[in-house]
Amino acid sequence: MVELKANKKPATAYVPAGVSAVGRQKKSYTIRLWSIRHSRGLEWFYDRFSRFFLLLHPLWNKLGYARVEGPVKAVEKRVKGLMFDCRMCGQCVLSSTGMSCPMNCPKQLRNGPCGGVRANGNCEVEPDMPCVWVKAWEGSRRMEHGDKIMTVQKPVDQSLRETSAWLRVTAQAAAEQEKAKQTGAA
Ligand code: SF4
Repeated sequence: MVELKANKKPATAYVPAGVSAVGRQKKSYTIRLWSIRHSRGLEWFYDRFSRFFLLLHPLWNKLGYARVEGPVKAVEKRVKGLMFDCRMCGQCVLSSTGMSCPMNCPKQLRNGPCGGVRANGNCEVEPDMPCVWVKAWEGSRRMEHGDKIMTVQKPVDQSLRETSAWLRVTAQAAAEQEKAKQTGAA
């Protein structure tokens, strides 16, 4: 009788000590989960922060958005990386997803969970990780405008990766303000 051993990996001296790829990053979940638990406070803060950033639009314009992009992006990456495990998709939806970053979903789903959430609320692909969409729902229930989670998100535009969502949102809001002024003046 022939034994089928073709796919069996050869034993080596190094045997990982019972950690999964995600288990190694478990520490970062602590802060990510804290952010979701404090989604309401962060929603309040982000609202003020985005208004402040918009007030600085004349300064960004004078310096040139292209010139400030580097430093702003570096700060954004570090702050959001620490608080949300941000992957810098460039089209932030945190305020619509209970402060749970959907880019941490291994399938990068932007509109709710797949059908594989485990009974304990963890991810089917990364069993140590709470499903980002289960957490998104919990976070959204604490937020004033949490029902934004019902808004259908567009697919991720990969061309915006590693760009600043802060600057994009600010420039868009400034353009809309300008347009509204011109329409009002006409
Ligand atoms: S949605 Fe995008 S920009 Fe926002 S935290 Fe997640 S990866 Fe970062």
